[in-house]
Amino acid sequence: MSVSDQHYRGLAQLMIRSQLAARGIQDKRVLDAMASVPRHEFMPEAQKSMAYEDMALPIAAGQTISQPYMVAVMTQLLDLHGDEKVLEVGTGSGYQAAVLSMLASEVYTVERIPELAEKAKQDLQRLGYSNVNVVIADGTAGLPDKAPFDRIIVTAAAPSVPEPLIEQLGQAGILVAPVGDRWSQTLVRIVMSVNGPQQTFHTKCVFVPLLGKYGWNYQNPEQ
Ligand code: SAM
Repeated sequence: MSVSDQHYRGLAQLMIRSQLAARGIQDKRVLDAMASVPRHEFMPEAQKSMAYEDMALPIAAGQTISQPYMVAVMTQLLDLHGDEKVLEVGTGSGYQAAVLSMLASEVYTVERIPELAEKAKQDLQRLGYSNVNVVIADGTAGLPDKAPFDRIIVTAAAPSVPEPLIEQLGQAGILVAPVGDRWSQTLVRIVMSVNGPQQTFHTKCVFVPLLGKYGWNYQNPEQ
């Protein structure tokens, strides 16, 4: 292992202890996955030294890579066991998809900005996350031809949970999404039961907007 790899490994361990375990993330599989995925490898060069800080950071195209704690909370809420087919809406850097790939059997991740999707695809391939499929599309419509999904995670802020995503959630499936207005959201968790979707509310959060047919208006992002 190079000196640089050792340096980042140390920062990742510190992130796990001080930002995640100390704040109540208890799922050992989530902690192990986040300790092993090299977050700095999904960052633009200028941001690499900040990769394990307790914050969201800018990537290309005016988008962000989510705060490690938020990645951990959302992943823990998905309650993954290893054999699930997962849909992520909002690939961004590809980091969350890499974490999911370690905890599930198959990951589909959808990004509307081609530049980000291409970069994430290259990084995921280069790093060996071979069970991740990156798709360029409006993820608010889901991926009907790959449905149903065991888990769905939305990593951009939605005005409400897009109906097509609920329709594409399989029996006993779990969906996690930030829902609210443009500046403040709450994580919503939906479990698909025999009695229909059961909804619970979790942590407050702030995400960039989900722009698309079943999200915010992408032609005029202020609406
Ligand atoms: N999960 C990402 C990561 O690990 O880096 C962070 C996601 S970033 C906070 C939100 C992403 O959602 C942005 O890249 C944005 O372009 C994307 N996005 C917004 N609306 C979308 C849509 N309708 N379909 C797919 N991606 C969308």
